[in-house]
Amino acid sequence: MTPPKEHAKTSWTIADAENYYGLKRWGGPHFSVDDDGYMLVHPEGDQRAIRIHEIVKEAIGKGLKLPLTIRIQDLLRTRVVELNTLFAEAIKDEGYDGRYRGVFPIKVNQLREVVEEIQEAGKAFNYGLECGSKPELMIALAMHKDPKSLVICNGYKDDEFIQLVLAGRRLGKEIYLVVEQLSEVSRIIQISKKLGIKPLIGFRVKLSATGEGKWASSAGEDAKFGLTSPEIIDATRRLKRAGLSDCVKLVHFHIGSQVPNIQTIKKATVEAARFFCELHKMGLPMEIMDVGGGLGVDYDGSRSNYESSMNYTMREYARDVVYNIKNVCSEAGVPVPDIVTESGRAIVAPHSILVTEVCDTISKTSVEAKRSTKRKRNPVLRDLDAILTNEHRSSALERFHDAQQKKEEANNLFNLGYLDLTERAEADSTYWKICKEVAVNSKGDAYVPDELDALPQMMAEQYVCNFSVFQSLIDHWACDQLFPIAPLHRLNESPDVDATLVDITCDSEGKVSKFTDVEDVRSTLRLHELKAKQPYYLGFFLVGAYQDIMGDLHNLFGRVNEVHVFLEDDEEDGFYIEDSIKGFTINDVLGFTQYDGHILTRLMKKQIDRATKADKIKPREGTRMLDEYAELLRGPTYLKTSK
Ligand SMILES: *Cc1c(COP(=O)(O)O)cnc(C)c1O
Repeated sequence: MTPPKEHAKTSWTIADAENYYGLKRWGGPHFSVDDDGYMLVHPEGDQRAIRIHEIVKEAIGKGLKLPLTIRIQDLLRTRVVELNTLFAEAIKDEGYDGRYRGVFPIKVNQLREVVEEIQEAGKAFNYGLECGSKPELMIALAMHKDPKSLVICNGYKDDEFIQLVLAGRRLGKEIYLVVEQLSEVSRIIQISKKLGIKPLIGFRVKLSATGEGKWASSAGEDAKFGLTSPEIIDATRRLKRAGLSDCVKLVHFHIGSQVPNIQTIKKATVEAARFFCELHKMGLPMEIMDVGGGLGVDYDGSRSNYESSMNYTMREYARDVVYNIKNVCSEAGVPVPDIVTESGRAIVAPHSILVTEVCDTISKTSVEAKRSTKRKRNPVLRDLDAILTNEHRSSALERFHDAQQKKEEANNLFNLGYLDLTERAEADSTYWKICKEVAVNSKGDAYVPDELDALPQMMAEQYVCNFSVFQSLIDHWACDQLFPIAPLHRLNESPDVDATLVDITCDSEGKVSKFTDVEDVRSTLRLHELKAKQPYYLGFFLVGAYQDIMGDLHNLFGRVNEVHVFLEDDEEDGFYIEDSIKGFTINDVLGFTQYDGHILTRLMKKQIDRATKADKIKPREGTRMLDEYAELLRGPTYLKTSK
């Protein structure tokens, strides 16, 4: 049986909370718990900290309901500075003769405030931008100011794209067209001739080294991107003939996102550096080696080569990239290139926190059925009782099997009309009680048989959270990606409820039932019992990369409210909210599916008028109904919780 709750409560400490939710492992110096049990964020990894709960309170005070995205802008800055500083250190320590010239890939988080903050923080390092589509190119061209920083253009390109890049050249930008497809070469030659503007060109090479992890298919010989070695020779020949070979200066590769294993990165870097050296020997004025993205985020904090993790640090990454390029170049007697990375995930993932409120719980055992009072007790009920009291002193697995058999028998009897609803309810109740006991008793056993493995999750409570997995945590649904999750408060109390999370979409896939852990994946998360009239807030962490833009409108929930938070010593709570962005209203999301709020309101009015004429409702009631309908259109799509 579980230890008595009071006992558990007194022995639970803040350190237990930090440990159980893995704060220090996935959050490094950026997350902790204060003495009152509130989760803190340390934007710069030092003493200065903000209670996340206070941000939520202030946002609610501004009329922003949950769910809420909180962007910690100083944490974003910190990551930019960290990456640039670590590369500068690696370059110094290795005595490397080139520079680091990183770019931020816009696709990982396109939000203007995010891109602006990154540019601000990157000014001192000449940190540039990367784009992969026409809209992103239009952002990059207009937002890019520092002439000493790079703009790198990847992705599929049409003639307009190429023309726009050449216009950027005319503006004096160091903007690179990275050739992904052979067909792009002839179009670049043609357009450059027509406009009389020389491009800067890079080759994306298709490496034989492939990655591992969820996004490994970006590389390897079957990838949809990049040039094979014969294509590179062909492209070079064509550019030479067109008198443009002096424009080719860059080699690029990208082995996929979230690369968990440093060995993959080393291998790819060595292979690409070999391409760089060979192109140099072919007489091209090679200057830059672009190692793409892939730098990971340790979502589960296990520092392993598991797909939610990474077995290296940012420091190690910088060192290995610099070292391996230097090594290959010096062996080939080729001057070393400047180094570019297109690290997106590692820059933006940590700065964003999604906060949701638990608005309800679903539990199989919340209501216990009364004992059937029928004089003639059905034998199946007697048998279930005997299993519950464990009359026969059976093993956990045996009890579970017996209970399953009796439950099935009870269902059959019910279907055939031999059990009434009260008896069926009693059978169900007793069955769940047995399952719960078996789950609790085999918890902590060194070996749990497979059949019992699923029991804790089956018996866990479901916490209903006011958000949509499809909008805010799309990678969890689409590719099983794990994100750290923890309560924002009450961390000084022992969490005694084993729970899984479900969202408010009408889709059974809208759930979270896999949680990060150091050693394995957890099937339930320990949370606190809900208290009446007290909101319970959960934070989803490290959600700043990809999730915002890839989320969708399933069930028409759409974008959530958002606040941008800055450190501020003069404020009592150490922060201020600079910006807030309202989530979608119901009117907004209806617009995406070709409805129009005005037309819908008119259609409602017609029906109300008809009902009034037919004397089904009073005119005053009709007017009120219509007002409420119109008002709701302007309101949020998510639940208005009553707490
Ligand atoms: C997506 C992408 C990136 C960003 O990758 P991260 O793993 O998020 O750093 C960089 N370069 C290219 C070409 C990409 O497609």
